[in-house]
Amino acid sequence: MRASSPAVPNDPRHAAPAASPDGYMEAVGDVAFRLDPSGLIHHASQRAQRTFGAQTLAGAVLTTLAVDVDQAALRNALVDAGTASDPILVEVRLRCAGKDVWFELRIGLLAGSHELLAVGRDMSAQRATEQRLRHMATHDALTELPNRLLLSDRIRMVIASARRSGQGFCVATIGLDGFKKVNDGLGHPVGDAVLRQAASRLRKTLRDSDTLARVGGDEFVAVLPGTFTPDQIKLVSGRLLAALQSPFEVDGHTVYLGASVGVSIYPDHAEDEIRLIALADAAMGRAKETGKGRAVVYSVRENGMPQHDISLEAAMFQAVREGEFLLYYQPIVSSRTRQIEGFETLMRWKHPTLGMVPPVRFIPIAETNGLINLLGAWALKAALVQLRQFEEVAKRDLYISVNISPRQFRNDRFLNVLDDALDFSGAPGDKLVLEITEGTLMVDPVHAEAILTKMAERNARIAIDDFGTGYSSLAYLKRFPISVLKIDRAFIKDLPASTKDAAICNAVLDLAKHLDLSVVAEGVETEEQLTYVESRGCDYVQGYLTGKPMPAHVAMAALKENLYTELLPDELRAGLT
Ligand code: C2E
Ligand code: CA
Ligand code: CA
Repeated sequence: MRASSPAVPNDPRHAAPAASPDGYMEAVGDVAFRLDPSGLIHHASQRAQRTFGAQTLAGAVLTTLAVDVDQAALRNALVDAGTASDPILVEVRLRCAGKDVWFELRIGLLAGSHELLAVGRDMSAQRATEQRLRHMATHDALTELPNRLLLSDRIRMVIASARRSGQGFCVATIGLDGFKKVNDGLGHPVGDAVLRQAASRLRKTLRDSDTLARVGGDEFVAVLPGTFTPDQIKLVSGRLLAALQSPFEVDGHTVYLGASVGVSIYPDHAEDEIRLIALADAAMGRAKETGKGRAVVYSVRENGMPQHDISLEAAMFQAVREGEFLLYYQPIVSSRTRQIEGFETLMRWKHPTLGMVPPVRFIPIAETNGLINLLGAWALKAALVQLRQFEEVAKRDLYISVNISPRQFRNDRFLNVLDDALDFSGAPGDKLVLEITEGTLMVDPVHAEAILTKMAERNARIAIDDFGTGYSSLAYLKRFPISVLKIDRAFIKDLPASTKDAAICNAVLDLAKHLDLSVVAEGVETEEQLTYVESRGCDYVQGYLTGKPMPAHVAMAALKENLYTELLPDELRAGLT
């Protein structure tokens, strides 16, 4: 339960309750009470009366309707509301006919009286959506096992406890041998059924304290706390192999598979989750190369150390000096009119011999060596300058969206970089959208809140990038001044056929509507996808259908002619990647 004063003073959702007769109380919220600051209820709306069942509410004390642990927060909120000029918001669980239900209560003084008005909204549906989103973001849809995101989290937890106890553990990567043949020969539905059975068999060989995740098509990872001696490892990996050796029966087919297992040990081989998984993977590769159907424990001598791409890193420093980095721009369009409303800035590296190096290869390296601060500052400045040119050609308002990486966001100098870019370009802050991921916010929410508030003071808008792939939480959406959600491509690509993805998109759109956020659907590639998201109330789309990332001169040609980019002449389209 959180008590806070409203974040957006002029937002009508936070307006003070007007003085009004009890009839008004029937029209607002799911429950409404007129009461005094001690919590004594003078009058309750009929809906409240129905919600709480038979007891008469007038004369009861509101705090006693809350579950024990939430009573203090509610009491404090009532006292605060008695003196505050703005209404107080508090989230508490109230006992309704034997069930605990989350309510958001907005409590304010009735004008010209000492009485309070408390209006409550039932949050169950929103909480359920939040929980569903979080589950979908952290679990594999096919097997319901944890996915890579949750796996990393679990390993970090096991590392923390191993540090305290001094007891090691191991990570095992399990790859099905010959799975591709099943998929190719018998079709995906049979393949899916085999994967589900394999997941359940593997799960059964493990203890409750072990984690089993699915990390790729036919790959699983097990984290085994307390298992680290050669004997223990031999026992467990033997069981994992055996579990997948007996045949799978699906739709009258008998499928024989097997598995290869690779193991890495904490702290002997590595002390962080990324390397532990990478080394277990390398060991599994070795198991596959040396005959399959076996388990291999990582060994430095046999596997060598997987290394960071040092040559690429050296080339990057050179590239900065030589000016090999470029910016491309991808249109963000209105889903209804398809008019270009803004552009997302996407970085490109044009290497003289390697050609276009994609950002997924160089951004992570730039993150580790700090070059991202330099590149990011340049991108922000250049994009804002470019925006002015775009607007001149289009003769109307546009906006520009720029990706901010976690390291940039954490950097002390980031606000200076932002101010410098705004000053240099002369562009007003409200033309700028800064894209960050949920992960960036969640690492240090207190710092994040401070920085985001400063960004909002400059009128820059904040977009949550790749929404749905992190820990979706409504709590942070309310806490931080966020304006835009970008639904990740993963949830768009199988629309409209995939009912699961449709459910998640609808949940996000509902949520956004409720919180007054705009939504961009990413990676829209087909007319069907565009029609679908538009019909569900998604205002903006960005994807290959309405324009690939393109150099600035191509973008300007599109703006000048007010053309949809797919209608661009061939010589200009040739510039697109
Ligand atoms: P992102 O921010 O999610 O950017 C969207 C990515 O989706 C872009 O990939 C874009 O080309 C691609 N995309 C857009 N529409 C479609 C579509 O319809 N189908 C498909 N298959 N893909 C589509 P790109 O340019 O390769 O960038 C990859 C990632 O690199 C970006 O993901 C972003 O996280 C990062 N990145 C790019 N530029 C910058 C930058 O200037 N700064 C930082 N920090 N990160 C950047
Ligand atoms: Ca982005
Ligand atoms: Ca994205």
